[in-house]
Amino acid sequence: MIRALIDFVRLNHHRKHFNQKQIETYQLKALHKLVHLAKDKSPYYKETLKDATFQSLDDFHKLPSINKTIMMDHFSNFNTCGLNKEDCMADALRREQEKDYLGYYQKKFVIGLSSGTSGNKGLYITPKALTKRLPAVFLARGGVGLRDLPLRILFMLRVFSQGFEDINQPGVKLTYLSTMTNPREVIQTMNEERTNVLMAPPSMIRFLLPLAKDLIMPLKRVITYAEVLTKEDKAQFKSVFKTDVVEIYQASEGQIASPCRHGHLHINEDLVYVELYDHNNQLIQTPHMIGTRMVITNLVNTTQPLIRYEMNDLIVLDDPCPCGSSFRRIEKILGRHDDVIYAFDSKDVLRPVFPDLLARWIITESDDIREFQVVQQDLLTINVKIDAPKTFDPSRLKKRIEHALLEYDQHANIVVQVGPLELPKDKNKYKRFICQIDHPDVHSHRSPHNP
Ligand SMILES: [Zn+2]
Repeated sequence: MIRALIDFVRLNHHRKHFNQKQIETYQLKALHKLVHLAKDKSPYYKETLKDATFQSLDDFHKLPSINKTIMMDHFSNFNTCGLNKEDCMADALRREQEKDYLGYYQKKFVIGLSSGTSGNKGLYITPKALTKRLPAVFLARGGVGLRDLPLRILFMLRVFSQGFEDINQPGVKLTYLSTMTNPREVIQTMNEERTNVLMAPPSMIRFLLPLAKDLIMPLKRVITYAEVLTKEDKAQFKSVFKTDVVEIYQASEGQIASPCRHGHLHINEDLVYVELYDHNNQLIQTPHMIGTRMVITNLVNTTQPLIRYEMNDLIVLDDPCPCGSSFRRIEKILGRHDDVIYAFDSKDVLRPVFPDLLARWIITESDDIREFQVVQQDLLTINVKIDAPKTFDPSRLKKRIEHALLEYDQHANIVVQVGPLELPKDKNKYKRFICQIDHPDVHSHRSPHNP
């Protein structure tokens, strides 16, 4: 309790009162500590950072960068707790299959499985010692405030984990529902739980809009994540739910940004160190410039030290915020926006199939899948293009997706094609999901035989 209070006060102090110099001093100290620990406890870093020393942030930028492939290739040597990759992967996959989300791995770790955007599965370890501190981080940086207590949150995501469960504390109750839950059931649960904060990806919230009038409790906040929150969505959610709508920017790699009291996103400079580069590989320090590289270092997770990790996302910085915080403000996030694909249910009602779920079914089918693209040209057929060796069997994947859809009471013709996928040179323009149907009407009954 005292620890949580200290965390909360410190996090608030950093964001509100740190000036630029203090932020840099704090980051440099945290980076030194992290690199020292990584060199001591991680066989991978012991080797790669053997001769690494740095006196300034500029020096730090010269250290080698890593990416998800490197991290996963060296996983067992990479982490600082001697965790074995195959064992962790088996545990993570089993949990997903059995929807057995709660509990710690070896009683000490939360293991997250992410498909990310590079086509490979990623494993992310968070120690229990850190997840237990999440409530304070959530209250300080989650888009809610002390004045909102008590919080009764409805939290929606593809999967759940003990890490989210640990947010439950006196005054904070979190109820989880999968993003595949029927919207009516979501509203019903919100009424039963007297939910006052709704947390869900924007694509899910869009499907709740027509039912918002059935909510009994007024909401104190709507918080979105996992996809870009467009200005249009934000305005509409705000007018329908009659409350503030904010976005948090969280990745498997770290809690990258949180909204301030003005609702603007600021980088969590004390939790992650973010480097942005332009096409000449020069550090971006001015607002409104679109870069080509984003490199992050997680300052708080020492179990799996992510030191100069290349992200696929990109952000554009904004002018200083009227809230007065010196934490860099984000104008927009690029490269996370996936389109939603659709399928009919057994009552011939059109319902969304969320991209993260579809991606998961595809990616976990085989390690031979290098990249994929899902294109929906009409309401009956979902085309899945797979970049894989010629030996790859498309019929198995077709069955897998159809079967997985049926589990959610949905069906569609799945067409799987195997062949090389042309990736644009600028990988941020590559879209994995393309829905070519204009404004599908998801609330009326339609026959799948006569769309
Ligand atoms: Zn602000």
